[in-house]
Amino acid sequence: MDLATLWYLTTGTLLVAAAMTLWERKAHAQRSRELGLWAAAYAVFAAGGILAMSRNALPGVSGPALTNIVMMFGYLLVLQGILALDGRKLHPVFIASLLAAIGAAWLAAGTGAAALLWNHVSAFPIAVVCAVNALALLRSRTARRLRSRPIVIAVFAGHSLFYLGRTFVVPVLAAIHGDNILATVAAITMYEAVLFAVAMSMSLLALVREEDRARLLATTRTDFLTGLNNRQGFFELAPRSLSRHDTGAAHSLLAIDLDHFKAINDRYGHEAGDRVLRLFANIAKDIAGPEAISARLGGEEFAILLPNRNGEEARAIAQGIAQRFAEKAAQSDGLGIPATVSIGLAEARAQQADLVALLAAADHALYRAKTQGRNRIESAKPGQAAKAA
Ligand code: GH3
Ligand code: MG
Ligand code: MG
Repeated sequence: MDLATLWYLTTGTLLVAAAMTLWERKAHAQRSRELGLWAAAYAVFAAGGILAMSRNALPGVSGPALTNIVMMFGYLLVLQGILALDGRKLHPVFIASLLAAIGAAWLAAGTGAAALLWNHVSAFPIAVVCAVNALALLRSRTARRLRSRPIVIAVFAGHSLFYLGRTFVVPVLAAIHGDNILATVAAITMYEAVLFAVAMSMSLLALVREEDRARLLATTRTDFLTGLNNRQGFFELAPRSLSRHDTGAAHSLLAIDLDHFKAINDRYGHEAGDRVLRLFANIAKDIAGPEAISARLGGEEFAILLPNRNGEEARAIAQGIAQRFAEKAAQSDGLGIPATVSIGLAEARAQQADLVALLAAADHALYRAKTQGRNRIESAKPGQAAKAA
């Protein structure tokens, strides 16, 4: 394949990548800025490709210099999109100054060392900006959770290494083996460009799609009103937490039900009822701590799994939650609604924690708390969790 064919192929691939990214942008409103920047970058690369094909028609060094600056602009747009994933950005003045400085350097170098400049030195800024792209992804909090992150990093790191090789290794090879090696390098450069264009655009798209999927998945596990886990989230996360924490300590579970909640709704209205539910959720999450798995199982019923907490510690936590909730709900500068909770507590010994049995035992204790007058904490009898299984 000759060089011109490879240029056409690269340019075409980039235009297709730009079109596909723009199309995908419609489906990902929350990442429209990033996808827009990347689509623009691919279009700029394609423009650079067209310029490169006709660069010898331009006077002096302006053809290669302009091509290089346009390509650099494309890479900086890609970087701008990657930074945008975390709400960061390069100042446009910085981008303009950087491009102007590189342009000035190329013009100053002039035609004197043309071969050295366009075969080797001009690859260096591209190597640097791609290394920065890889680094930005490495540091990105958004990308950290995503499975395709290492792929995107590898794509940019690989491209950066290739351009570093063009800058520092190829001149040495040319000095040893003669200049005819440069034709081979030029062909490899174009071949790599096609692969890079496909890999970059596909992996960046994968990143955005994966993030979207993770967000949807989180939504299916989250209770919309309180932001706690919902029933599905609880039954997905709690067993995982139990097996992760099974280091020999006991675990506890609280089953919680708001007292006379129907009466609260009837007296203060459904919206006030919702505020009570949110207040309770915030207090529960706060006091139970980051290790706990808190969930709204439905209506005004909640469950809190307390890994590595024995019954005594769990009781203290339950007391803290019940007390703070009653205080805060009744506060006249707050909701001004007298509200209490009943809590059932069950404890499981290490390596015997069966979530369903634990919940059944806690529910049983909760039922006792209700029948004994509400606004209290009842513990399941020892061994109850095992029996319930
Ligand atoms: P008990 O002390 O025996 O638990 O009595 P209760 O009134 O709390 O229990 P009951 O099961 O009779 O009533 C629960 C009420 O919770 C009924 C329902 O309207 C209300 N509820 C369920 N989900 C929501 C919600 O999302 N928002 C509001 N505001 N109320 C809700
Ligand atoms: Mg209830
Ligand atoms: Mg209730």
